[in-house]
Amino acid sequence: MNTLMNTLSYVQPTTTSPWGVYLAQVDRVLPYLGELARWAETLKRPKRALIVDVPIEMDDGTVQHFEGYRVQHNLSRGPGKGGVRYHPQVNLEEVMALAAWMTVKNAALNLPYGGAKGGIRVDPKQLSLKELERLTRRYTSEIGIIIGPNQDIPAPDVNTNPQIMAWMMDTYSMNTGTTATGVVTGKPIHLGGSLGRVKATGRGVFVTGREAARRLHLDLNGARVAVQGFGNVGSAAAELFQQAGAKIVAIQDHSGTITHPKGFDFAELMPYVQRHGGVQGFAQGEAADHESFWDTDCEILIPAALEGQINVDRAGRIKARLVLEGANGPTHPDADDVLHERGILVVPDVICNAGGVTVSYFEWVQDFSSFFWTEDEINLRLDKIIVDALRRVWDTADHHHITLRTAAFTVACGRILAARQERGLYP
Ligand code: NAD
Repeated sequence: MNTLMNTLSYVQPTTTSPWGVYLAQVDRVLPYLGELARWAETLKRPKRALIVDVPIEMDDGTVQHFEGYRVQHNLSRGPGKGGVRYHPQVNLEEVMALAAWMTVKNAALNLPYGGAKGGIRVDPKQLSLKELERLTRRYTSEIGIIIGPNQDIPAPDVNTNPQIMAWMMDTYSMNTGTTATGVVTGKPIHLGGSLGRVKATGRGVFVTGREAARRLHLDLNGARVAVQGFGNVGSAAAELFQQAGAKIVAIQDHSGTITHPKGFDFAELMPYVQRHGGVQGFAQGEAADHESFWDTDCEILIPAALEGQINVDRAGRIKARLVLEGANGPTHPDADDVLHERGILVVPDVICNAGGVTVSYFEWVQDFSSFFWTEDEINLRLDKIIVDALRRVWDTADHHHITLRTAAFTVACGRILAARQERGLYP
């Protein structure tokens, strides 16, 4: 029964669109929330959604306008936290869902944050570096009225990186007459960035994968891994799996799909991808067609590109025993059911890719205290937080006989709604 129907006038979600998927995921958790379920309506409404016009002067002297967003889904447990995405398909509904998944993720990890997300509908590959800087600075000024070190702290997501975070930090600092290192995370190291942040999301994917594999009695040594998305998250996760003895046998990114049953050699692959901007044309292995990626013979599948990639059809063909959701929202709810029925274990995004926001939290804490930790300290603390959170979720799943996703939502929504209840309604 769908008890959580969309009641918002400004988006029209479908069963497979991001906000629709999120609502369905929340719906599944209601039976496990007890008394707190009476506050659940709060989960299906973003607290605040800001749409901004971002006009910039292009290098040829013309002016172009881009549409930008910052959505604060829920701030019950702390300031907003979540990345900024630059992509031609960014829209309000997608940003709302990504912000909501951040609320759930931060609560599942017990980080003292609410959930937020931002983005600009733009193809950054079409912009020069100077245009990208102007775009970032104007966007930061426009959303400056709702972000801040104690309000809402952006971070990198698809097509954004430490340089873009540096421009955001500088713009916010100029506008407020401060040096506000804590306003964004994922910054360069000498601007208050944290060691280990760049690879933290991929590391978290690896840590959850290692723990899940142990429970499945799946030996990582020799395990075959297929990765969709070979950017920040996918490449870092793949590298760690390879270092643990696994073979990366298939990679798909926006440029194409390549397969290599013996496993790719990272020492050659990484520089190639950096030089060419994608995996297409890499000399090792073979090129494959886009759809065949989902038929890859492998033990572990890592979707680490965009949302909505695993539909019912693909879920029926996946051969892996373990799916590690590096991406946010890669699996449709009905595809989730197919994977569950087929005995394929899914470690959900809200735990699996939480390594990035966990080290972002470390970065924020380090910025406030102006005291910086070593990379070993960062990685050890990250490992412990992820392992503890996953154990808690697993116990909940065993207790209620539910999937890890529903269990993660149960743990998280319980915390969010308890905070909501304890704070009470203002005024
Ligand atoms: P990125 O921009 O570094 O990389 C994105 C990758 O996806 C690229 O390799 C790109 O080629 C590929 N891609 C894009 N469209 C594709 C398509 N249609 N088919 C196949 N591949 C495609 O982005 P990222 O930071 O690695 O983010 C990837 C995913 O991980 C997103 O869902 C993001 O929300 C999520 N995530 C990122 C972080 C982070 O810290 N960066 C944290 C948590 C979750």
